[in-house]
Amino acid sequence: MSLRLRLALWYTALAGVVVGTVLLAAFLSHSATLALEIDAQLHGVAQRAATRVVAGIGPHAGVTADSLQPITDFTDAEIWVRYFDPSGHELAESANATGRPVLFGPLNEDIPGHFVDGQDGSERLRGYVQPVRRGTELDGYLTATTSLVSVDRLNDRFALLLLAIAVGGLLLTAGAGGVVAAGALRPIRTIITTAQAIALGRGFSRRLPPAPHRDELGQLTRTLNEMLNSLEAAYAAQRRFVDDAAHELRAPITVIQGNLALLQAPQALGPEEHAQVLADLAGEVQQLGHLVNALLALARADAGQQGRQVVVELDAVLTTGYRRLRALNAPVELHIGALTPLCVRGDSDQLEQLLLILGENALRYTRPGGRVELGLGEADDAAVLTVRDTGIGIPADELPYIFDRFYRGGGARTLRRDGTGLGLPIARWIAESHGAALTVESQPGQGSCFTVRFPAISCEADADLPTAPPT
Ligand code: ADP
Repeated sequence: MSLRLRLALWYTALAGVVVGTVLLAAFLSHSATLALEIDAQLHGVAQRAATRVVAGIGPHAGVTADSLQPITDFTDAEIWVRYFDPSGHELAESANATGRPVLFGPLNEDIPGHFVDGQDGSERLRGYVQPVRRGTELDGYLTATTSLVSVDRLNDRFALLLLAIAVGGLLLTAGAGGVVAAGALRPIRTIITTAQAIALGRGFSRRLPPAPHRDELGQLTRTLNEMLNSLEAAYAAQRRFVDDAAHELRAPITVIQGNLALLQAPQALGPEEHAQVLADLAGEVQQLGHLVNALLALARADAGQQGRQVVVELDAVLTTGYRRLRALNAPVELHIGALTPLCVRGDSDQLEQLLLILGENALRYTRPGGRVELGLGEADDAAVLTVRDTGIGIPADELPYIFDRFYRGGGARTLRRDGTGLGLPIARWIAESHGAALTVESQPGQGSCFTVRFPAISCEADADLPTAPPT
């Protein structure tokens, strides 16, 4: 069942309950008023007639034809009266009572005047029975009776009218509800159509037409358009990334293919050239390996993969990293400066990878004889890791791009051919996934300093954080 139909049915059901209750109350109050009016008339007639009969009876005489004259003379279009002696024998009746049914309740002088209901075929009757007394003595009973035919007919007509109003009102509500729901849901239909078109054609550049009102649908439209903005940006970034990755992978593969072609004709190569080709091949394969590892790390980053969350001794990570960097035997002085024992929450392998990326860059982009210093200090509750070098530095116009994927600075490219342009993006992702900020300060020709500012935590392992095994 469509939402539009459901909404229309809900409106109608709700309106039905309200209209039904109101009309029922109107009907009940109308018929109760009529009944009260009739009772008042019957009571009034019975009272008046009884008073006149009593007035006609002498103080000692019993009821006579004269004293019953008011009964015989009584004329009314709707009400007829009768007089009965105390044992229930009829003594007199009004002219219009002829042929009309007799209606009285229990004849008991102790029961004061009371109303009675009766039935004559399908005709409902209502009457009032009034004991007539002379002093304390009972003279008889007077009944005033009327037929409820016209009242019932009036009630029936009124009920029919109310029913017609209810049905008409409900049909109108259903129709109006359908129209209102269709109008309110029109923007949703537009959203669905546009979303379908986007899904089919990957047209992330399409946008939903701005909603005319600042209501929930307007909010939904704006949110979807914002989502499309980020989807478009992410899609474009992904395409760029795939293009760049393919391009970067193609270069070493082309070199490998060329070298393999040379090796297939060994007679054309001297022993020295042969060794050189093999060395080039090994270098390209290593480069390919770096590239694939870096791409894998970024793919994990894009998938939002979280590393372990344990207490990591950052000073231990720094000394391990230092040992690994030393093993690279770069022609550069490598030192540890400040080394404050500090802990952070995170994954020790990733933290070591972050340090190695920054450290290897510092060693690679520092000319022989230069100096690289690793340090760990504390500032404002933060554990501050620094990698400082006296290398080539980064020009100010390159600084905004060095964290972009596949970006390689001009100086870096001249100095080292073997970069991937993926180190710093991975380093930034690791820093951010540890709640840390990675920043850089650099002076071309004088050196650079990369700083990672982590939220420090107590090294006492708390209950929910295991400690990292020592590396
Ligand atoms: P790669 O080092 O493979 O080129 P990175 O993403 O690690 O890629 O670095 C991006 C760029 O940032 C480098 O090409 C270089 O221009 C610059 N860079 C990074 N570290 C340093 C550094 N310590 N000194 C000078 N330039 C650096």
